[in-house]
Amino acid sequence: MDATTPTATQEFIGKEARFGARNYQPVPVVVDHARDCLVWDVEGREYIDMMSAYSAVSHGHLHPRVVAAAQRQLQRVAVTSRAYHGTTLGPFLEKLCKLAGFDRALPMNTGAEAVETAIKCARRWGYRAKGIADGQAQILVARGNFHGRTSTIIGFSSEPEYRAGFGPFAPGFEHFDFGDMASVRAATNASTCAVLVEPIQGEAGVIVPPAGFFAELREWCTRNDILLIIDEVQSGLGRTGRWFAFEHEGIHPDALILGKALGGGLLPVSAFLADERVMDVFNPGSHGSTFGGNALAAAVGLEALQVIEDEHLVQRSADLGEYLNERLQEVAREARPLIRAVRGRGLWVGVDVDPRHATARELVERLAARGVLSKETHDTVIRFAPPLTITKALVDRAVGIFRDVVLDKRRELAINSIAPAEAACAEAPIEATTA
Ligand SMILES: *Cc1c(COP(=O)(O)O)cnc(C)c1O
Repeated sequence: MDATTPTATQEFIGKEARFGARNYQPVPVVVDHARDCLVWDVEGREYIDMMSAYSAVSHGHLHPRVVAAAQRQLQRVAVTSRAYHGTTLGPFLEKLCKLAGFDRALPMNTGAEAVETAIKCARRWGYRAKGIADGQAQILVARGNFHGRTSTIIGFSSEPEYRAGFGPFAPGFEHFDFGDMASVRAATNASTCAVLVEPIQGEAGVIVPPAGFFAELREWCTRNDILLIIDEVQSGLGRTGRWFAFEHEGIHPDALILGKALGGGLLPVSAFLADERVMDVFNPGSHGSTFGGNALAAAVGLEALQVIEDEHLVQRSADLGEYLNERLQEVAREARPLIRAVRGRGLWVGVDVDPRHATARELVERLAARGVLSKETHDTVIRFAPPLTITKALVDRAVGIFRDVVLDKRRELAINSIAPAEAACAEAPIEATTA
């Protein structure tokens, strides 16, 4: 091939760049096909998927049982809208409610739609059950939150990049500092109807809350008649080594938001769950979605839940997550001062890079060039969240490549012999948070 002939990779990237909106900046890998934890690009190169589409592919790519369930349903019916009943929705919702411990579930498609559902439910509950003056309901949200990309949701993001130029924003949200009860108390008033919060802040950099924060928050909400709504779109369904991350905190929320892995890696399937006293604020006509809870999505969602259960993926996440975390801690110690911290729970780890030495993006691209797919969040955190089906051997391979990449980088920077000023900081222990 002469120098002017573009590779397949260049061609596909070029076409997306030419015709696509520029709202993403993908890692330069063109995925052709994938199976379980492995991905192949159009040049035939193999990669370990250590990202799993932000947990949407927790089952691994094209899980045979989930694919078979979809194929069976595709012989019958896929979409009818909620104008009629079906044979898959009831069994799916029953399974979901029993697993999560709620009376009722409301199916939607994307995570953001389920968050919007939660906001509507919380406000109506605030007016009808709590007696808040009409139009005054307030929802408390954490600084550093990520709940999706609708105009209402980005309106209460604290990330300037998500908001710039998209106002005016919907009122009715107040911020508190994640992990800080004093700021929750300060933000609460008589019009507060709900706290909406992630159990671990994923997009913020896999931020694990201080021990005891959620127990106190639960008590505060109960005492003040405030709904505690937990967004487990990314953390839920085994990611953290429990079915739901709130279990680590020994609490039960008033409502729960799920998505991503609920679609088994095939479809957008999300849900909002609550007990009757909360969910029953919705009456016919008050909320809906044309595709939400469609027959195909419900068949896939039900099988996705059954596979997690049958294949013991939650325990696997706990065990292999601990192993992954330990191995990454070792590499982090070796790669001082390039890596500042490793934190996470289950198969969900954020590796904090010192921005004086490298950007997370640069390391993510080097990892991809050597066959490991990850994704940066902000400039400083590399996120590892492989499918829950990953094996110990693949974890070892991925960590080995990560080690090569960071040690190479450190060698280039000539910071391998630590200067005296840095020596003191190198004594500080690598921050560790495991389940
Ligand atoms: C991804 C995510 C969402 C939004 O889900 P979409 O399917 O992208 O709309 C909401 N909340 C959390 C915590 C997420 O990680």
